[in-house]
Formats: sequence, structure tokens, C-alpha cells
Amino acid sequence: MSTKTIDLDFDRQHVWHPYTSLTNPLPVYPVVRADGVFLQLEDGRKLVDGMSSWWAAIHGYNHPVLNVAVLSQLEKMSHVMFGGLTHEPATTLARQLVDMTPDLLQKVFFSDSGSVAVEVAIKMAIQYWAALGKSSKNRMLTVHSGYHGDTFAAMSVCDPVTGMHSLFKGTIQQQYFAEAPSCRFHEPCVEADMVDICHNLERHHSTIAAVIIEPVVQGAGGMRFYSPSYLTRLRELCDSYGVLLIFDEIATGFGRTGKMFALEHADVVPDIMCVGKALTGGYMTLAATLTTEKVAGTICSGNPGLFMHGPTFMANPLACAVASASIRLLESYDWQASVFRVEAELRKGLEPCRSFSHVADVRVLGAIGVVELHHQVTMEIIQRQFVDRGVWVRPFGRLVYLMPPFIISNEELSILTTAVCDVVQSIR
Ligand SMILES: *Cc1c(COP(=O)(O)O)cnc(C)c1O
Repeated sequence: MSTKTIDLDFDRQHVWHPYTSLTNPLPVYPVVRADGVFLQLEDGRKLVDGMSSWWAAIHGYNHPVLNVAVLSQLEKMSHVMFGGLTHEPATTLARQLVDMTPDLLQKVFFSDSGSVAVEVAIKMAIQYWAALGKSSKNRMLTVHSGYHGDTFAAMSVCDPVTGMHSLFKGTIQQQYFAEAPSCRFHEPCVEADMVDICHNLERHHSTIAAVIIEPVVQGAGGMRFYSPSYLTRLRELCDSYGVLLIFDEIATGFGRTGKMFALEHADVVPDIMCVGKALTGGYMTLAATLTTEKVAGTICSGNPGLFMHGPTFMANPLACAVASASIRLLESYDWQASVFRVEAELRKGLEPCRSFSHVADVRVLGAIGVVELHHQVTMEIIQRQFVDRGVWVRPFGRLVYLMPPFIISNEELSILTTAVCDVVQSIR
């Protein structure tokens, strides 16, 4: 038997990775363990994790408290169907979500992934208007530079240029797009920033079911941070034009931006809200869509009187149990102080990049640090450079960014930021 446990040749030939070719795949790194903020490669190298496995692993890996939550649930029941049955992990988690989100959000729909939570949100909005006899209100309005997932309805509200609209033309629902918010995080939003979205609402409100947007931080669509006051104005506009408001907090939820949810920067309450990613602390796949009494009540008063969705693995008990434990863990310490500490260190550590002529912008919010270049990076070169420096950082497009687990030490953070500065400087 081979001492290698991971067959890289087989992987290259048979296994698809996210957004990759199977005829010309880029190298993938075999990982055998993950503990705290470290990913251990098969060759023994340990990398400091700068990605939290795409926003999710906020407490780090192999956490004793989360391990116990999974193991003790496993001994009772790993899964049962949710049709006609319920269980303690689901009701406990639903209660936590209802308690920690704005008071108006009272009803919880569990699903398997962020994209599905977005599909569910869009279906809720459409069913809401159908129940009110306004089935022509079935389109979405969103902004440029958004990202909401890879399934069809979610793709339809991703950025129309960097998303997959031209590739799937004719199969993706056409939606309305307004300019991305241009007011930066610390700037107030002015009338000029609202003109385009206002214009879209004015012209199309009779066919718009909802506005969907990532509050404050646009993630995979460009890592842009914008003014919370934009959301206050957007809420007013949605109310005056009779359009629902959906917040996609899948990336921003559970502390990442320095607030438990990004909507708290603005104190704005949406009609529907999606959470996912860090919901389980990165342990399992789970997402949820929350809505108000009003939206739920209206949907259930219409025809057929039911909300029409029901995944096979809905409210998986293992995932609910670990999510519940992850939220308790977050609430058990001063997570906000940790995020502010990470924010300060990222700000200090990434600042040198600002002086490089090929860097367009350096921005930090909460535990998110972004270096935006003028040109796209070459993944196969830059990925290797990071691994050689002992860090796991995965840039995309013109963006090199960090979003480490909240528990990372200042020393480990400085390894990350030093690597980013060195690599960014070297690819000039
Ligand atoms: C990642 C992401 C999604 C999609 O979640 P998946 O679990 O990958 O399906 C949706 N919206 C936002 C804002 C995201 O960051």
C-alpha cells in the first residue's frame, strides 16, 4: 500500500474542484489535518489559514467544543426527514436565530447551502406577491458587483458582467440591475448614490417582487464595502414603492464585519434574510432563510397555502447541533473585541501595500482585509508563492484578501500580512 493517502493523479483526472478545468487543472494541495488556524499539508507543512475556508471557520478548525457537539448528536441521531417530524437541534437553533436577529424576523426555513437559501428567499418574495394577487411582481432588483450563489435564481442576481449571465443567456431569468453603491463605508450616502436604484424602482416596481443585496460588504462580486446609510435609504425606497427587501448575510453574518450581522451597522430590518457559511462554524453545510410574520402569513394565506420548498436534508440534526454550539461559543466570549483586534492588525499589516504603484486600494473592515490590484493575478504563480511562505491565501481576479478565523493570534496575523505584502510586491 502506498504511504500517500491522497491520490493526486486520480484527483486530476476525475474530481472537479470549484471553477476548474478537468483537462488542464491547476495544482491542488493535499491537506490531511486542520487544527486551530493551521492547515497541515500531506508533506508535513503547516499553513496559517487566511481564508476561514471561505468565511466559514470563524472559530478555527478541530475545535473541542464543536467536536463534542457533533459527536454527541451523532450518538443520538445523525439525520431524519423533516417532513412530519421535528427535533431538538432544529428548534434550539431556530430559537437562537430568532433571538439574535431583529425582532421582526420570526420564521425560519432551513436549507443545505447558501445558494439554496437565496433560492428560498426569492421564492418567498414571489409567493408573497402571488398570494396578494400580484403575480406580475416576480422579478428581482439588485446592484452590480453582487454575489448570491451558483444555482439558477442565485446566478440571475449575481453581477451580470463577472457572473455567468452571457454563458447561460436565455436560461437565466433577466433581472433588474442598478449601479453598485458608490459611497464608501465611512462616508455618508448622498442622493446621487441613490439615483439609479431609485430610477429602477420608479420604472419597474410593478414587476419587482424584491430588492436583494449583501448588506455593507459585497463579497465574491468584488469585496466592496459601502456605507450603511445606503441601506437606510434603500429600506425607505422599498417601502414607498411596495417592494420587499432581502438581505443576503451569508458572508457577513456571525461577526465578520464587527457586528453580529452587517445589518446592525445600519439598524435596518429586511423582510427576508439569508444566513449560511459561518452558521456552523465551518463544520457542516447548512443555511437558513428568515422572514417576518407578515411575509410568512401572507404566503400561507394564498394559494396553495403552503411555502413550496422542502429539501431532503432540511434541518439536518448534526448540522443544526454544531450550528447551535457555534453560536453559543461565539456568544461565550468577547468575539467583537477579537474581530476589532484582527481589524487593527490587518489595517497595520496591509498598509505597506498602499505604496505599491500596482495596488489600486487597500481596505479593511472587521476581520476582512482586501488588497485590490490594477491587474488580475495569475493564480498558478501566486498560489504557490503563498504556500511557499507558509500561508493559505487564495486570491481571485484583482483581489488578494484575508478573512482569518477570529481566534488567530497577532503573531499569526503578522505572518499572513507579511506574506501578502511580500507576494504583492513581488508580482509588480
Ligand atoms: C457564498 C455565498 C452564497 C452562496 O453560498 P453557497 O453555500 O456557496 O451556496 C450566497 N451569497 C453570498 C453573499 C455568499 O457569500
